[in-house]
Amino acid sequence: MVDLQHADPAVPGRRSIYMAINYDAYEIVVGLEVHAQLLTRTKLFCGDSAAFGGEPNTHVSPITLGHPGTLPRLNRTAVEYAIRMGLACNSEIERHNYFARKNYFYPDLPKGYQISQHTTPVCKGGVVNIRMPDGQRTIRLNRIHLEEDAGKSLHDVDPDYTSVDLNRAGVPLIEIVTEPDLRSGDEAYAYLTELRKILRYLEICDGNMEEGSMRCDANVSVRLKGATTLGTKVEVKNLNSIRNVRRAIEFEAGRLIGLVDQGMAVRQETRSFDAGAGTTFALRTKEEANDYRYFADPDLPPFEVTEAFLEKIRAGLPPLPEQLVATFRTVLQLPEYDARVICDDKDSVAYFEKLIGYTTNYKAAANWLLGPVKSGLNEKGQDWKDFPVAPAALARLMQLVEEGRLSFSIAAERIFPALVEQPSREPLDIAIALNLLQSSDTTEITAWIDQALAGMPDKVSEYKKGKKGLIGLFVGEVKKLSKGKADPRLTNQLLIEKLEN
Ligand code: ADP
Ligand code: MG
Repeated sequence: MVDLQHADPAVPGRRSIYMAINYDAYEIVVGLEVHAQLLTRTKLFCGDSAAFGGEPNTHVSPITLGHPGTLPRLNRTAVEYAIRMGLACNSEIERHNYFARKNYFYPDLPKGYQISQHTTPVCKGGVVNIRMPDGQRTIRLNRIHLEEDAGKSLHDVDPDYTSVDLNRAGVPLIEIVTEPDLRSGDEAYAYLTELRKILRYLEICDGNMEEGSMRCDANVSVRLKGATTLGTKVEVKNLNSIRNVRRAIEFEAGRLIGLVDQGMAVRQETRSFDAGAGTTFALRTKEEANDYRYFADPDLPPFEVTEAFLEKIRAGLPPLPEQLVATFRTVLQLPEYDARVICDDKDSVAYFEKLIGYTTNYKAAANWLLGPVKSGLNEKGQDWKDFPVAPAALARLMQLVEEGRLSFSIAAERIFPALVEQPSREPLDIAIALNLLQSSDTTEITAWIDQALAGMPDKVSEYKKGKKGLIGLFVGEVKKLSKGKADPRLTNQLLIEKLEN
């Protein structure tokens, strides 16, 4: 039912249902909550394996099951990983921490409560910078806290029953919560891409949304542009890719603007995204929200983050993408675009750094990575880990181009794919075997030149009458006849000698 009484044409941007909705009058407001599974060997409070997968219910000790008489013990590495993330985002690190029990019943929560940080998130505040087409935006973080994951309910194993796998129960997570600073699906997309990059650089989470090791809930509201208070939010769950987060936000914002534009109230509720349909549907409303009855976990003593521990973590932080981009630009003189693309992925940085151990032609090295290597990987749907060519071998191929023995296009289009197929072969041997080495043999090139010029006597006489631009055509013809083998510089020189005499 449409509530016409609230359709108020006197408020700019708010139109009656009989008019088209003016989407431009509204601002979208988004805050994201991201759960990232930490790559520790063991769980947050016991020695059970934290590895993904495994035979169901094999990574479960009595501690994971919360049996009476068992005692949890904090995993120091998980705390270290959480702090790494906080330092990378310029958060303030909480020194005096405790864990709380968040009580609720769920079949995959064997203890009947989840151990989480309640009033003392280990990291407070902080920022993540994102780049949008119109410039940089700073997204403020509210907090990053540690908690344990729940198990997994499996609804497709048995036709009549839901099965439960508790391998994941107790695996350490950090929850990274933003302020409501994002303004579009595109910004959320950029933020999550950046966040995942940082997690991977820090080697604390593999960032794989499809496998659930990084999960995101999106809080969305809308308001008239210029409004200073926030609109009522809805929270969208079950977003299993960065792309789906963007789709869900765009759908949800459109739905909310539709409601508000008609003067209808937005209900604060939790919704689920249906990726197939591209729509959301209501799961539960705020009235049904849980009261978690938080209290400090009596089995876990509060823990202090000492200055020494913090300093050790700070000293061990790897260079972050932004720092590396700056270094590549200033020290190696790479264009910003090249530096950014290389730094998108830690593995490509590692490869690039090895490659420039063999050559000082940094720009050529970047060209190779951004060009043939990246498109080769994309074509095969592979990532850097699958790339078989050793940096030293690629450097030797680059060297052949530099020495003028191969043109870049022959090297990239013919030798490189052969090298990917047989990475242990020597690039020079491949070039010889395929008969692709450029000829610097004057006699051979002269023969091609004679053949080329004989085929276009009209153009030759035009050239002689002064149409010097035709030189390019002749060089091209020689290139064609020689199948790219004629050294272009030498060809050019010999052609001029021949035509001018
Ligand atoms: P809750 O108590 O419902 O979990 P929080 O205040 O903890 O809400 O915020 C959860 C997330 O929702 C945060 O990322 C926050 O920035 C975001 N958020 C809060 N209010 C709004 C709003 N009105 N519109 C969009 N996002 C919001
Ligand atoms: Mg919440």
